[in-house]
Amino acid sequence: MNSGSITRAIINLSALQHNQQVLQKTAPNSQILAVVKANAYGHGMVEIAQTLTGIHALGVARLNEALLLRDAGITTPIVLLEGFFHADDIETLVEFNLQTVIHSQQQLKALLNCRLQKPLQVWLKLDTGMHRLGFHSAEFDEAYQALKSSTNVAQPIHLMTHFNCADELDNEITSKQLIQFKKHIKTDSGLNSLANSAATLAWPETHIDIVRPGIALYGISPFADKLADEFNLQPVMTLRSQLIAVRSHQAGESVGYGASWSAKTDTTLGVVAVGYGDGYPRMAPEGTPVLVNGRVVPIVGRVSMDMLTVDLGIDSTDKVGDDVTLWGEGLPATLVANHIGTIAYELITKLTSRVALQYVS
Ligand SMILES: *Cc1c(COP(=O)(O)O)cnc(C)c1O
Repeated sequence: MNSGSITRAIINLSALQHNQQVLQKTAPNSQILAVVKANAYGHGMVEIAQTLTGIHALGVARLNEALLLRDAGITTPIVLLEGFFHADDIETLVEFNLQTVIHSQQQLKALLNCRLQKPLQVWLKLDTGMHRLGFHSAEFDEAYQALKSSTNVAQPIHLMTHFNCADELDNEITSKQLIQFKKHIKTDSGLNSLANSAATLAWPETHIDIVRPGIALYGISPFADKLADEFNLQPVMTLRSQLIAVRSHQAGESVGYGASWSAKTDTTLGVVAVGYGDGYPRMAPEGTPVLVNGRVVPIVGRVSMDMLTVDLGIDSTDKVGDDVTLWGEGLPATLVANHIGTIAYELITKLTSRVALQYVS
């Protein structure tokens, strides 16, 4: 390994395939729409898409994400989960064989008013409570009928909604959303898709035709209070760096910017080559866990751009060059996120381009 890749995210593609199988077993009668938006949650969209075989479709948030996949030769069906943002883009969807969510009157009008060479596959979105995107119940059936009678639209029309509280196991909103959704299923409508990772793992009645896992595919629990191994999911990303200094440190001495922490006793500090310039959150407080030589040690002092410091303890035998795990195998991203006051989704999607992605299987 050269020093250019001292801080790298190891991406374990076997773990990805394992997670796909686990999710398929969890939803045995459903197909999978694998969500690969935001560079596959930081894992590298093209490599992830190439590894996921036998799925119904890939899900992205932006047209440019879909075009990157097509450029890379990915022929799997792709769904734009938020649809198109400009009427001009509809032609591009047809050209590149992309499917679109239709969630608003603006999108509906634009689609009805253009003239397409080939009909477009659409997923009509019902708002069941998230209240970001989707047709209100009262508008939904009319939108459905309008799409049904348009030659621009491939038949049958697929239906979808998105949960806002599926990660709360005792929240009855999810069941109510399911009931509301079911009222809008038509005898001639196509596939139905509701479940994100949390619903896929915890709300089997929502699986119906297509589940849409994102985070669980990457081996991370969608629940803050349950770890991935409870579901037999394996972390795909392990963020690794190395100790670049190991220093004896006396009681009363501080470390880092602002001298925000001082040692209570004599100890050994480790300096790790990772910081907010790599996407490791500056907000990580003292005590945030880091894995060094198989044991958890706490961050001390402030995270800086290129480094952070850990308390290795007075008996440390750790050496410069030893591997350090920030999250992933051996240290679930969920635990780190809980310490920092964020969610694992944010940790993994925010790695910067300085971090090399290394694929292993
Ligand atoms: C991002 C997204 C998902 C996946 O969510 P996870 O919590 O990562 O499983 C599913 N559906 C839609 C519409 C999304 O935008």
